[in-house]
Amino acid sequence: MTAVCAGCYNLGLMDELVGIISEIKGFLRLQADLGQREYPKGVVSALPRGPKTLKEVEQEALSCKQCRLWETRNKVVFGAGNPNADLLLVGEAPGAEEDKQGIPFVGRAGVLLTKILKSVHFEREEVYIANVLKCRPPENRDPLADEVEACESFLVEQIAAIKPKIICALGAHAARTLLKLGPGASIGSLRGVVHNYQGVPLLATYHPAYLLRSPDKKRDTWEDVKFLRRLYEKLLERDEQ
Ligand code: URA
Repeated sequence: MTAVCAGCYNLGLMDELVGIISEIKGFLRLQADLGQREYPKGVVSALPRGPKTLKEVEQEALSCKQCRLWETRNKVVFGAGNPNADLLLVGEAPGAEEDKQGIPFVGRAGVLLTKILKSVHFEREEVYIANVLKCRPPENRDPLADEVEACESFLVEQIAAIKPKIICALGAHAARTLLKLGPGASIGSLRGVVHNYQGVPLLATYHPAYLLRSPDKKRDTWEDVKFLRRLYEKLLERDEQ
């Protein structure tokens, strides 16, 4: 490799910058000649850029009016926890208590989720918890397809910003949304298997609210979270090597 002194290197960089600026000037002149009088927004937004930061995504979600749920929500429930978490948990949608506080999983199901996490030595503060929908559906009804579609980009961008090593889908809605599965995919058939979300291992288990109604599923959930803990440790070990 040829050695380059810092001064010459900076000059080279300067030449490159001058070249880029003159190309942009040429492009803008051409736009003006073609009658373009405004800043070419479309062109700028088409330029490649890295993933948004979690804060940027949150800012957008907080003022979202892309589906009907903004009309009945009290607070947008964006997500909570460690923005650099290795484990991301995804639930369905905020309930009444979450809608009041703006924090996911703080009602009865949340208390159970916190206990489940603790049982395999996870603290809420070290993981990140989000939902498919960021706003509460009235009367806690199931999310509608158009609501999931409108909200999905927030979850996708959240995952891209957090870059978890593993994802745990809580309940069928979260699993189906993340894995792009139809309404026929039951949580019973999805649990116990390592799925793949864009290269990130994904496990699915029962939603804590369902466990409150069907405590007989707690034993399976215990197996699921032990499996989650083992896989989590393995992934951490792999990345330490
Ligand atoms: N159920 C969910 O799916 N998410 C919450 O935040 C609370 C209850």
